[in-house]
Amino acid sequence: MSSSQKAIGHGGLHPSHLHTIQLYGADERLLTVNVARYIAEGLQLDEAVLVIASPDHTAAFVRQLPLAGIHPDRAVKEQQLTFLDAKRMLDSFMVDGRPDKQLFRNALGSAVRAMRAAQPGAGKRAYGEMAGTLWARDEFAAAIELEELWNEFVPPLGLQLFCGYPINVFDAEFGSADVHSILRSHSRVRAIDEDGDLERAVQRAIDDFAPPDSDPHSIQTAAVPDDVMVPDAEKAILSLRAGRPGHAKDVLSHARHYYQAEKHFRALIENSSDAILLMNPGWEILYASHSTARVLGYAPARIMGTNCLHLVHPADRDNASRTVADALATPRVPLRFEARVRTNVGDWGWVEITVTDLSLDPSVGGIVWNYRDISERKAAEQALRESERRLATRERYLQTLLDSMPDCVKVLGRHGEVLEMNAAGLRMLEADSPQQVIGQCVYPVIDPSNRGAFQALNESVFDGGTGGTLDFSVNGLKGAHRTFETHVVPLRDGADRVIGALSATRDITEREAAVSALRQANESLEQFGYAAAHDLQEPIRNVSLYTELLARRYRGKLDEQASEFMDITVEGARRMQALVSDLLAYTRSLDKPQNELPGTDANGVVAEVLANLRTAIGTTGAEVVCGNLPSLPIYRVHLVQLLQNLVGNALKYRSEDLPHIEISSLERPEEFVITVRDNGIGIPADQTERIFGVFKRLHGRNVAGNGIGLAICQRIISHYEGRIWVESQPGQGSAFMFTLPCRRPLPTQ
Ligand code: ADP
Repeated sequence: MSSSQKAIGHGGLHPSHLHTIQLYGADERLLTVNVARYIAEGLQLDEAVLVIASPDHTAAFVRQLPLAGIHPDRAVKEQQLTFLDAKRMLDSFMVDGRPDKQLFRNALGSAVRAMRAAQPGAGKRAYGEMAGTLWARDEFAAAIELEELWNEFVPPLGLQLFCGYPINVFDAEFGSADVHSILRSHSRVRAIDEDGDLERAVQRAIDDFAPPDSDPHSIQTAAVPDDVMVPDAEKAILSLRAGRPGHAKDVLSHARHYYQAEKHFRALIENSSDAILLMNPGWEILYASHSTARVLGYAPARIMGTNCLHLVHPADRDNASRTVADALATPRVPLRFEARVRTNVGDWGWVEITVTDLSLDPSVGGIVWNYRDISERKAAEQALRESERRLATRERYLQTLLDSMPDCVKVLGRHGEVLEMNAAGLRMLEADSPQQVIGQCVYPVIDPSNRGAFQALNESVFDGGTGGTLDFSVNGLKGAHRTFETHVVPLRDGADRVIGALSATRDITEREAAVSALRQANESLEQFGYAAAHDLQEPIRNVSLYTELLARRYRGKLDEQASEFMDITVEGARRMQALVSDLLAYTRSLDKPQNELPGTDANGVVAEVLANLRTAIGTTGAEVVCGNLPSLPIYRVHLVQLLQNLVGNALKYRSEDLPHIEISSLERPEEFVITVRDNGIGIPADQTERIFGVFKRLHGRNVAGNGIGLAICQRIISHYEGRIWVESQPGQGSAFMFTLPCRRPLPTQ
């Protein structure tokens, strides 16, 4: 494109309304941003907005508008915003490559009427790129004519206009006569960017080529149209092109390079996840990147000019000052520190700050602060510290607990090696230090009689077993022999793998000794009782026999008092004989006959008991009811004693009513419960336990008995590890109940 081809003279109609031109060839992205702002501004002022653009640009505006706070769909629906296709509208009024005035008027008229209908009375604005489209097709004259038509028709419509042209300010065409004509048909040129990047780039390029003694700011402005508002950067380029065309090429090639580098740099900064501040040595913030809003919550403009140190937490300010002093002492070297900084909501967020003194770098000229949000990392570190602290406390707590326990707590490996053992465990093994035991196999100290069982239990937990309980003996490292009771369970890791056999072990040496001593004492006592009762029987029988003989032979030959003494002696001897016989029955109550199997059909036993008691049942007129009873885990002889005592008592301690006796059973998962219920005289609540004692009874001589029956019942039931008790109230009858545990091997004699 040569400027001579494009020149059409300097005629034209200068606008009397606001008619803005944007030259976006050097930076198309900025067109999108600026047009979106222009549209948003109009909509916020309730103006009707008309956009005549290419489909590509329209799509870009629609994407950008939400960032400017506008819902484009809603605005279009409410007819506040209208999009028209630039090419289609152009086609409607172009005739032989020239805009036809009448057709243009019609096309414009219908578009504006539509706007007016939507927003009566409101202002109007339009963005258009029809002339820009003609320019792109090199139809420069047509473009200028079209602008002139706009300037002719727009003032009475009260329309503000914004035109986009794909002219690149760095290209040679910017400065051509056609560009001058286009510029003159507008009232102002919109700066290509508002950040001053273009201006800085041009100035820097001019400085690059200026002779050392020349005034770098002397820009010739003769080439700039007087009545058009042109930003400084564009003005400088136009002056260069007009005043020093040969020089302009090199300068603008540098300027283009600087501008693009600046834009790239800016894009990097703005899109960085860090916030970037620039400050001078007096801590004044000179620049804040857009990302400051993301990291710290501040709009960049709000903190520009403020003191950078005030953002830092007071406790971190010394550190910040020191780091900045160090940075100033070592220009260009990035120095890092962590600090809390105040966010816009007033709390403190953790950031990592990198300070670099780039004061000497002309393109920066300050100290750069780079903030990186590390609050998440700090929170994670804090949480980790917390949980470590909690874990340490917990571990201390557990260790104290373990070491203060009287029981041994240990973890063994599959082969019996000791992985862990508390202080009590070391004492039990008679070890002087953990080193003596940890890592060693424990099997050798287990008494050979239990070693196999111990090893089997230990290994079972590694093979899927749930563990178990075992009594075993240990020959300690210093030779002491002791007995322990251990409970072993599998110890699992987070993945549910068994990593050890965890056990709690209690020293039961003393307890075992006490139990054994008690057992022996009981046995001796029993033998003594049995021997006493048994050996007393003979002399007592003789005393009884001979006193009765004496009484019979001398009855009537003695005086009255001697007869009375004789009677008392005879009665005492009888009673003594009965007591000794009961005592013998008690001591022998647990004898079990040879050849008897432990499962007993209770129905058969009841029949036998009723037969034994038939005289008493007959004389009292008692009714005995018995349900179907199960086979019970007890020797027959013991069940006979139990039921005969209970049914016998039910008959003996009857009330005035005819005795009614019920025998029933209940089967629970763990035990059988047998009940003998009567309608007799009942028992006072405070006596219900006492009556199970030896020779304990509630009645005098008027009711036969020695108080041994329930004691025998109690003894038998205890032997089977069951319970016996009575539920009763005086006058309400009694229910004697006893349990027999099922699924348990019967006690051996
Ligand atoms: P004895 O019947 O020889 O006195 P027991 O040991 O069988 O001895 O009973 C102890 C006491 O319990 C009895 O003296 C009696 O007072 C009371 N007793 C036992 N069974 C019953 C019952 N079914 N009803 C009321 N009292 C009873």
